[in-house]
Amino acid sequence: MTLNIAIIGAGIAGITAARTLANAGHHVQVFEKSRGPGGRMSTRESNFGTFDHGAQYFTVRDPRFSLALQAVPGTTDICRPWSANAVRVLDPLGHVFEAARASKEAHFVAKPGMNALVRHWAEPLGKAIHNNTQITRLERGTKGLWTLHTGDHKFTGFDHVLLAIPSVQAVNLLKASGKDAADAHWLKAMNAVEVAPCWTMMVAFPNATQPNLHIGPQWNAARSIHHRIAWLARESSKPGRGKVERWTVQASAAWSAEHINDTDARVQAKLLRAFAELTGIRAEPAHTQVHRWLYAKTITPLGVSHQYNPANGLGTCGDWHLGHRVEDAFVSGLELALAVCQSAKRL
Ligand code: FAD
Repeated sequence: MTLNIAIIGAGIAGITAARTLANAGHHVQVFEKSRGPGGRMSTRESNFGTFDHGAQYFTVRDPRFSLALQAVPGTTDICRPWSANAVRVLDPLGHVFEAARASKEAHFVAKPGMNALVRHWAEPLGKAIHNNTQITRLERGTKGLWTLHTGDHKFTGFDHVLLAIPSVQAVNLLKASGKDAADAHWLKAMNAVEVAPCWTMMVAFPNATQPNLHIGPQWNAARSIHHRIAWLARESSKPGRGKVERWTVQASAAWSAEHINDTDARVQAKLLRAFAELTGIRAEPAHTQVHRWLYAKTITPLGVSHQYNPANGLGTCGDWHLGHRVEDAFVSGLELALAVCQSAKRL
Protein backbone atom coordinates (compact mmCIF):
# COMPACT_ATOMS: atom_id res chain seq x y z
CA MET A 1 0.00 0.00 0.00
CA THR A 2 1.27 3.50 -0.82
CA LEU A 3 1.17 5.85 2.17
CA ASN A 4 0.89 9.63 2.53
CA ILE A 5 3.59 10.46 5.04
CA ALA A 6 4.44 13.71 6.85
CA ILE A 7 7.92 14.03 8.31
CA ILE A 8 8.55 16.79 10.84
CA GLY A 9 12.19 17.96 10.89
CA ALA A 10 14.71 18.19 8.04
CA GLY A 11 17.88 17.21 9.88
CA ILE A 12 19.82 14.17 8.70
CA ALA A 13 17.35 11.77 10.40
CA GLY A 14 14.29 13.33 8.74
CA ILE A 15 15.89 13.62 5.30
CA THR A 16 17.23 10.04 5.46
CA ALA A 17 13.75 8.78 6.36
CA ALA A 18 12.15 10.92 3.63
CA ARG A 19 14.52 9.72 0.90
CA THR A 20 14.12 6.07 1.90
CA LEU A 21 10.31 6.28 1.93
CA ALA A 22 10.13 8.27 -1.33
CA ASN A 23 12.44 5.74 -3.03
CA ALA A 24 10.05 2.98 -1.86
CA GLY A 25 7.20 4.78 -3.66
CA HIS A 26 5.47 6.53 -0.75
CA HIS A 27 4.24 10.14 -0.94
CA VAL A 28 6.35 12.18 1.45
CA GLN A 29 6.20 15.78 2.66
CA VAL A 30 8.78 17.26 5.04
CA PHE A 31 8.03 20.18 7.39
CA GLU A 32 10.99 22.20 8.70
CA LYS A 33 10.75 25.19 11.00
CA SER A 34 13.99 26.86 9.88
CA ARG A 35 15.03 28.27 6.50
CA GLY A 36 16.34 25.01 5.06
CA PRO A 37 17.42 21.41 5.71
CA GLY A 38 20.44 20.59 7.89
CA GLY A 39 19.28 20.80 11.50
CA ARG A 40 22.25 20.60 13.86
CA MET A 41 24.57 19.89 10.90
CA SER A 42 24.56 23.61 10.40
CA THR A 43 26.68 26.32 8.85
CA ARG A 44 26.69 29.98 9.91
CA GLU A 45 27.72 32.63 7.36
CA SER A 46 29.83 35.68 8.30
CA ASN A 47 31.69 38.43 6.42
CA PHE A 48 34.88 36.43 7.02
CA GLY A 49 33.73 32.95 6.00
CA THR A 50 31.56 30.18 7.39
CA PHE A 51 31.50 28.39 10.74
CA ASP A 52 30.23 24.87 11.45
CA HIS A 53 28.52 25.98 14.61
CA GLY A 54 26.74 22.63 15.15
CA ALA A 55 28.35 19.28 14.29
CA GLN A 56 32.07 19.70 13.64
CA TYR A 57 32.69 16.47 11.75
CA PHE A 58 31.28 12.96 11.47
CA THR A 59 32.63 9.45 11.65
CA VAL A 60 31.40 6.36 9.80
CA ARG A 61 31.04 2.99 11.52
CA ASP A 62 27.76 1.56 10.14
CA PRO A 63 28.12 -0.04 6.68
CA ARG A 64 24.75 1.43 5.65
CA PHE A 65 25.97 4.98 6.33
CA SER A 66 29.16 4.21 4.42
CA LEU A 67 27.11 2.85 1.51
CA ALA A 68 24.87 5.94 1.41
CA LEU A 69 27.92 8.24 1.40
CA GLN A 70 29.42 6.26 -1.50
CA ALA A 71 26.27 5.54 -3.49
CA VAL A 72 24.23 8.75 -3.49
CA PRO A 73 25.48 10.57 -6.61
CA GLY A 74 27.59 13.65 -5.84
CA THR A 75 28.11 12.82 -2.14
CA THR A 76 31.78 11.81 -2.40
CA ASP A 77 32.53 15.25 -3.88
CA ILE A 78 30.93 16.91 -0.84
CA CYS A 79 32.33 14.82 2.02
CA ARG A 80 36.07 15.12 2.65
CA PRO A 81 38.39 13.76 5.32
CA TRP A 82 39.62 16.31 7.88
CA SER A 83 42.62 15.79 10.11
CA ALA A 84 40.72 16.19 13.38
CA ASN A 85 42.04 12.80 14.42
CA ALA A 86 45.19 14.62 15.47
CA VAL A 87 43.14 16.09 18.31
CA ARG A 88 45.13 17.19 21.38
CA VAL A 89 43.85 17.29 24.91
CA LEU A 90 44.67 20.54 26.71
CA ASP A 91 44.96 21.40 30.37
CA PRO A 92 43.30 24.61 31.64
CA LEU A 93 46.43 26.66 30.76
CA GLY A 94 46.46 25.46 27.19
CA HIS A 95 49.31 22.96 27.65
CA VAL A 96 49.00 19.73 25.73
CA PHE A 97 48.98 16.99 28.35
CA GLU A 98 47.85 14.24 26.04
CA ALA A 99 49.60 14.19 22.69
CA ALA A 100 47.78 13.65 19.44
CA ARG A 101 46.43 10.15 19.21
CA ALA A 102 46.53 8.77 15.72
CA SER A 103 43.01 7.38 15.48
CA LYS A 104 42.44 4.91 12.69
CA GLU A 105 38.94 6.31 12.31
CA ALA A 106 38.61 8.93 9.56
CA HIS A 107 36.85 12.18 10.43
CA PHE A 108 34.79 13.71 7.62
CA VAL A 109 33.36 17.16 6.98
CA ALA A 110 30.96 18.27 4.28
CA LYS A 111 32.15 21.12 2.08
CA PRO A 112 31.72 24.03 1.77
CA GLY A 113 29.95 23.66 5.16
CA MET A 114 28.48 20.87 7.30
CA ASN A 115 24.93 21.60 6.12
CA ALA A 116 25.92 20.73 2.52
CA LEU A 117 25.46 16.97 3.02
CA VAL A 118 21.83 17.15 4.19
CA ARG A 119 21.03 19.87 1.64
CA HIS A 120 22.42 17.69 -1.14
CA TRP A 121 20.44 14.66 0.01
CA ALA A 122 17.32 16.82 0.31
CA GLU A 123 17.55 18.15 -3.27
CA PRO A 124 15.55 15.36 -4.99
CA LEU A 125 12.67 15.97 -2.56
CA GLY A 126 12.25 19.46 -4.08
CA LYS A 127 8.90 21.03 -3.31
CA ALA A 128 8.01 18.22 -0.90
CA ILE A 129 10.04 20.17 1.69
CA HIS A 130 8.15 23.01 3.41
CA ASN A 131 10.72 25.32 5.00
CA ASN A 132 9.82 28.00 7.59
CA THR A 133 6.97 25.74 8.72
CA GLN A 134 6.84 24.93 12.42
CA ILE A 135 4.30 22.25 13.34
CA THR A 136 2.63 23.07 16.65
CA ARG A 137 -0.06 20.37 16.90
CA LEU A 138 -1.22 17.10 15.32
CA GLU A 139 -4.86 16.06 15.06
CA ARG A 140 -6.30 12.70 14.06
CA GLY A 141 -9.57 12.81 12.10
CA THR A 142 -12.43 10.33 12.17
CA LYS A 143 -11.04 8.36 9.19
CA GLY A 144 -7.71 7.97 10.99
CA LEU A 145 -5.93 10.56 8.83
CA TRP A 146 -3.64 13.13 10.45
CA THR A 147 -3.74 16.94 10.12
CA LEU A 148 -0.66 19.05 10.93
CA HIS A 149 -1.26 22.52 12.38
CA THR A 150 1.14 25.47 12.28
CA GLY A 151 -0.99 28.00 14.12
CA ASP A 152 -2.32 29.81 11.05
CA HIS A 153 -2.30 26.99 8.52
CA LYS A 154 -3.01 23.26 8.32
CA PHE A 155 -1.87 20.34 6.15
CA THR A 156 -4.27 17.42 5.93
CA GLY A 157 -4.60 13.82 4.76
CA PHE A 158 -1.57 11.96 6.21
CA ASP A 159 -1.67 8.23 6.98
CA HIS A 160 1.58 8.56 8.93
CA VAL A 161 3.39 11.34 10.83
CA LEU A 162 7.06 10.82 11.69
CA LEU A 163 8.73 13.14 14.20
CA ALA A 164 12.43 13.66 13.37
CA ILE A 165 13.04 16.38 15.97
CA PRO A 166 14.92 16.58 19.32
CA SER A 167 13.35 14.58 22.17
CA VAL A 168 12.11 17.52 24.26
CA GLN A 169 10.46 19.10 21.22
CA ALA A 170 8.91 15.73 20.29
CA VAL A 171 7.48 15.32 23.81
CA ASN A 172 6.02 18.84 23.69
CA LEU A 173 4.47 18.28 20.26
CA LEU A 174 2.92 14.93 21.27
CA LYS A 175 1.54 16.44 24.49
CA ALA A 176 0.09 19.40 22.60
CA SER A 177 -1.71 16.96 20.28
CA GLY A 178 -4.02 15.33 22.81
CA LYS A 179 -4.80 11.69 23.62
CA ASP A 180 -4.55 10.34 20.06
CA ALA A 181 -0.86 11.27 19.94
CA ALA A 182 0.31 11.35 23.55
CA ASP A 183 1.09 7.65 24.11
CA ALA A 184 1.90 7.30 27.82
CA HIS A 185 4.58 4.60 27.26
CA TRP A 186 6.38 6.71 24.70
CA LEU A 187 6.24 9.84 26.84
CA LYS A 188 7.58 8.00 29.89
CA ALA A 189 10.50 6.58 27.89
CA MET A 190 11.20 9.90 26.16
CA ASN A 191 11.20 11.81 29.44
CA ALA A 192 14.14 9.63 30.54
CA VAL A 193 16.25 10.82 27.58
CA GLU A 194 18.83 13.39 28.74
CA VAL A 195 20.25 16.01 26.39
CA ALA A 196 22.88 18.62 27.29
CA PRO A 197 22.95 22.21 26.00
CA CYS A 198 26.00 23.83 24.37
CA TRP A 199 27.05 27.45 24.10
CA THR A 200 29.08 27.87 20.90
CA MET A 201 31.33 30.83 20.03
CA MET A 202 32.57 31.78 16.56
CA VAL A 203 35.57 34.13 16.17
CA ALA A 204 37.43 35.45 13.09
CA PHE A 205 40.85 37.13 12.78
CA PRO A 206 41.00 38.45 9.19
CA ASN A 207 44.47 40.01 9.71
CA ALA A 208 45.99 36.52 9.76
CA THR A 209 45.16 35.58 6.19
CA GLN A 210 48.57 35.33 4.56
CA PRO A 211 49.43 31.78 3.45
CA ASN A 212 50.56 29.61 6.36
CA LEU A 213 50.32 32.44 8.87
CA HIS A 214 48.46 31.18 11.91
CA ILE A 215 48.11 33.16 15.02
CA GLY A 216 48.14 31.02 18.11
CA PRO A 217 48.74 27.29 18.30
CA GLN A 218 49.98 25.01 15.56
CA TRP A 219 47.24 22.44 16.16
CA ASN A 220 43.84 22.70 14.45
CA ALA A 221 41.51 20.93 16.87
CA ALA A 222 41.62 20.15 20.56
CA ARG A 223 39.55 18.89 23.42
CA SER A 224 40.17 20.58 26.74
CA ILE A 225 39.48 20.08 30.41
CA HIS A 226 39.17 23.84 30.99
CA HIS A 227 35.93 24.20 32.98
CA ARG A 228 34.49 26.57 30.34
CA ILE A 229 35.66 25.09 27.04
CA ALA A 230 35.36 21.48 25.86
CA TRP A 231 36.37 21.78 22.19
CA LEU A 232 38.09 24.22 19.84
CA ALA A 233 38.70 23.90 16.11
CA ARG A 234 40.29 26.09 13.46
CA GLU A 235 37.55 26.32 10.83
CA SER A 236 40.04 27.51 8.23
CA SER A 237 41.86 24.15 8.47
CA LYS A 238 38.86 22.29 7.05
CA PRO A 239 38.74 21.49 3.32
CA GLY A 240 36.81 23.87 1.07
CA ARG A 241 36.65 26.74 3.57
CA GLY A 242 38.14 30.23 3.14
CA LYS A 243 41.62 31.03 4.43
CA VAL A 244 40.67 33.65 7.04
CA GLU A 245 41.71 32.46 10.50
CA ARG A 246 38.46 31.38 12.18
CA TRP A 247 37.77 29.32 15.29
CA THR A 248 34.68 27.59 16.60
CA VAL A 249 34.65 27.07 20.34
CA GLN A 250 32.22 24.82 22.23
CA ALA A 251 31.62 25.36 25.92
CA SER A 252 31.47 22.31 28.19
CA ALA A 253 28.06 20.79 28.88
CA ALA A 254 28.29 21.64 32.60
CA TRP A 255 29.29 25.28 32.02
CA SER A 256 26.63 25.67 29.27
CA ALA A 257 23.93 24.37 31.63
CA GLU A 258 25.12 26.65 34.44
CA HIS A 259 25.06 29.70 32.14
CA ILE A 260 22.02 28.73 30.08
CA ASN A 261 20.15 31.99 30.77
CA ASP A 262 23.14 34.36 30.58
CA THR A 263 23.10 37.09 27.96
CA ASP A 264 25.06 36.61 24.74
CA ALA A 265 27.40 39.45 25.78
CA ARG A 266 28.26 37.83 29.11
CA VAL A 267 28.82 34.38 27.58
CA GLN A 268 30.97 35.91 24.84
CA ALA A 269 33.18 37.77 27.33
CA LYS A 270 33.75 34.65 29.44
CA LEU A 271 34.42 32.33 26.50
CA LEU A 272 36.79 34.84 24.88
CA ARG A 273 38.84 34.94 28.08
CA ALA A 274 39.00 31.13 28.24
CA PHE A 275 39.84 30.97 24.51
CA ALA A 276 42.82 33.31 25.08
CA GLU A 277 44.02 31.18 28.02
CA LEU A 278 43.89 28.00 25.92
CA THR A 279 45.26 29.25 22.61
CA GLY A 280 47.43 32.22 23.58
CA ILE A 281 45.51 34.28 21.01
CA ARG A 282 44.89 37.59 22.76
CA ALA A 283 44.18 39.67 19.63
CA GLU A 284 40.72 41.25 19.45
CA PRO A 285 38.65 39.22 16.92
CA ALA A 286 37.08 41.23 14.10
CA HIS A 287 33.99 39.04 14.38
CA THR A 288 32.54 37.30 17.44
CA GLN A 289 29.17 35.61 17.73
CA VAL A 290 27.68 33.13 20.18
CA HIS A 291 24.87 30.64 19.69
CA ARG A 292 22.97 28.74 22.37
CA TRP A 293 22.01 25.15 21.51
CA LEU A 294 19.38 24.02 23.99
CA TYR A 295 19.45 20.40 22.77
CA ALA A 296 22.99 19.74 21.57
CA LYS A 297 24.29 16.41 22.81
CA THR A 298 22.49 13.28 24.01
CA ILE A 299 23.74 12.16 27.42
CA THR A 300 21.25 9.31 27.96
CA PRO A 301 19.71 7.92 24.76
CA LEU A 302 16.37 6.13 24.45
CA GLY A 303 18.18 2.86 23.67
CA VAL A 304 16.18 1.80 20.59
CA SER A 305 16.71 3.11 17.06
CA HIS A 306 13.14 4.44 16.64
CA GLN A 307 9.55 4.27 17.89
CA TYR A 308 6.74 3.30 15.55
CA ASN A 309 3.08 2.51 16.03
CA PRO A 310 1.60 1.07 12.81
CA ALA A 311 -1.87 1.23 14.39
CA ASN A 312 -2.01 5.04 14.45
CA GLY A 313 0.82 5.81 12.01
CA LEU A 314 3.04 7.77 14.42
CA GLY A 315 6.80 7.33 14.59
CA THR A 316 9.86 9.03 16.07
CA CYS A 317 13.50 9.10 14.99
CA GLY A 318 16.60 11.24 15.59
CA ASP A 319 20.04 10.96 17.16
CA TRP A 320 18.66 10.83 20.73
CA HIS A 321 17.30 7.30 20.18
CA LEU A 322 20.84 5.90 19.88
CA GLY A 323 23.45 8.47 20.88
CA HIS A 324 24.89 11.88 20.10
CA ARG A 325 26.42 11.48 16.67
CA VAL A 326 25.41 12.36 13.11
CA GLU A 327 25.59 8.66 12.25
CA ASP A 328 23.16 7.80 15.08
CA ALA A 329 20.63 10.17 13.50
CA PHE A 330 21.16 8.60 10.06
CA VAL A 331 20.69 5.05 11.40
CA SER A 332 17.59 6.07 13.37
CA GLY A 333 15.94 7.74 10.34
CA LEU A 334 16.81 4.78 8.12
CA GLU A 335 15.48 2.13 10.53
CA LEU A 336 12.21 3.98 11.13
CA ALA A 337 11.66 4.29 7.36
CA LEU A 338 12.43 0.60 6.82
CA ALA A 339 9.95 -0.35 9.58
CA VAL A 340 7.25 1.78 7.88
CA CYS A 341 8.02 0.13 4.50
CA GLN A 342 7.72 -3.34 6.05
CA SER A 343 4.41 -2.47 7.68
CA ALA A 344 3.03 -0.91 4.45
CA LYS A 345 3.78 -4.15 2.57
CA ARG A 346 1.53 -6.04 4.99
CA LEU A 347 -1.42 -3.66 4.52
P1 FAD B 1 18.37 17.76 14.06
O1 FAD B 1 19.59 17.97 13.25
O2 FAD B 1 18.23 18.54 15.33
O3 FAD B 1 17.11 18.04 13.12
C1 FAD B 1 15.82 18.31 13.64
C2 FAD B 1 15.15 19.36 12.76
O4 FAD B 1 13.80 19.51 13.20
C3 FAD B 1 15.79 20.74 12.88
O5 FAD B 1 16.12 21.20 11.58
C4 FAD B 1 14.69 21.60 13.52
O6 FAD B 1 14.70 22.94 13.04
C5 FAD B 1 13.44 20.86 13.10
N1 FAD B 1 12.27 21.03 13.99
C6 FAD B 1 12.23 20.93 15.35
N2 FAD B 1 10.97 21.09 15.78
C7 FAD B 1 10.19 21.31 14.69
C8 FAD B 1 8.79 21.53 14.50
N3 FAD B 1 7.93 21.55 15.54
N4 FAD B 1 8.33 21.73 13.25
C9 FAD B 1 9.17 21.70 12.18
N5 FAD B 1 10.52 21.48 12.31
C10 FAD B 1 11.01 21.27 13.54
N6 FAD B 1 27.71 14.96 15.89
C11 FAD B 1 28.82 14.35 15.38
O7 FAD B 1 28.71 13.24 14.83
N7 FAD B 1 30.05 14.96 15.45
C12 FAD B 1 30.22 16.19 16.03
O8 FAD B 1 31.34 16.74 16.03
C13 FAD B 1 29.08 16.82 16.60
N8 FAD B 1 29.22 18.02 17.22
C14 FAD B 1 28.10 18.70 17.62
C15 FAD B 1 28.23 19.98 18.15
C16 FAD B 1 27.10 20.72 18.50
C17 FAD B 1 27.25 22.11 19.05
C18 FAD B 1 25.81 20.17 18.28
C19 FAD B 1 24.58 20.99 18.56
C20 FAD B 1 25.67 18.87 17.78
C21 FAD B 1 26.81 18.12 17.46
N9 FAD B 1 26.73 16.82 16.95
C22 FAD B 1 27.83 16.17 16.48
C23 FAD B 1 25.42 16.12 16.92
C24 FAD B 1 24.79 16.11 15.53
O9 FAD B 1 24.71 17.42 15.03
C25 FAD B 1 23.40 15.49 15.67
O10 FAD B 1 23.54 14.19 16.21
C26 FAD B 1 22.61 15.37 14.36
O11 FAD B 1 22.81 16.47 13.51
C27 FAD B 1 21.13 15.21 14.74
O12 FAD B 1 20.34 15.08 13.58
P2 FAD B 1 18.75 14.91 13.72
O13 FAD B 1 18.22 14.84 12.35
O14 FAD B 1 18.46 13.80 14.67
O15 FAD B 1 18.22 16.23 14.47
